[in-house]
Amino acid sequence: MSALSGQKPVFRFAPSPNGLLHLGHALSAILNFEMAKAANGRFLLRMEDIDIARCKPEYEEAIEEDLAWLGLDWEKSVRRQSEHISEYAAALEKLKAKGLIYPAFMSRTEIRRWVENYEAEGAEWPRDPDGAPHYPPDDKALSEHESAARIASGEKHVWRLDMEKAVKQLFQALTFTETGPAHTGLLPADPARWGDVMLWRWDAPSSYHLSVVVDDALQGVSHVVRGLDLFYATSVHRLLQTLLGLPEPIYHHHRLILGEDGRKLSKSNASTALSALREQGLSAGDLRILIDQPTL
Ligand code: GLU
Repeated sequence: MSALSGQKPVFRFAPSPNGLLHLGHALSAILNFEMAKAANGRFLLRMEDIDIARCKPEYEEAIEEDLAWLGLDWEKSVRRQSEHISEYAAALEKLKAKGLIYPAFMSRTEIRRWVENYEAEGAEWPRDPDGAPHYPPDDKALSEHESAARIASGEKHVWRLDMEKAVKQLFQALTFTETGPAHTGLLPADPARWGDVMLWRWDAPSSYHLSVVVDDALQGVSHVVRGLDLFYATSVHRLLQTLLGLPEPIYHHHRLILGEDGRKLSKSNASTALSALREQGLSAGDLRILIDQPTL
């Protein structure tokens, strides 16, 4: 099912208000805005703030101030994920009803130890595209009764997707349409590379993967324009969209702006924050020239 059925194209910029925007965000926001304008489409702003401990209203204000300084204009009904938890919970229930998710009890340290023990035998345990080990299989093997008893006793748990089972439920090869410069065309999606992804955290409701697909569908997003760091996550998104019966947007992953150390810019580096550059006297026009530099 395509999200492009006779309506205006819809683009969105979806930052997490857990820090200040940097040059990489500026590139993403400007591209979304320009592509929406060129397509006579709509440009939305979405605050991805499910991580309530780290997201702050003052960062939201700073984001809007930065975007306005860049000369961007977005629809003023801004969607805040923290206000839509019940919609993500409904999607989780749908997957639960299909028998595709399970409660997972292992902490990060326990996962690390499990992987160390496994690899001590000589075999390598798979890692996801971000380099994190796949979730061990033990909790999936628990009986419903055992899991329920552990939850009832107050044991901390998250909900994970049973990837093997989920992939088996697909009736056709999973693909996505990509228009970004690094990889272009109809591409194969390979969600199994991620193992049993987390769909509901213990310390915050929902998860990035679940809320992003629910929101893109509910907001009628037809074009997802974002950094290449999320290229491989698209496979998980396509899987969730298919399992939940949600429309398929077109994807465009743009280059990342790297810092002097050759690494992706981070929100903790104050010197590349848009507000810092603005305070140094840079104009929005200077900034556009700066992010156009191919070396950046
Ligand atoms: N909230 C994500 C971020 O700030 C972007 C999500 C997306 O564009 O799909 O990196």
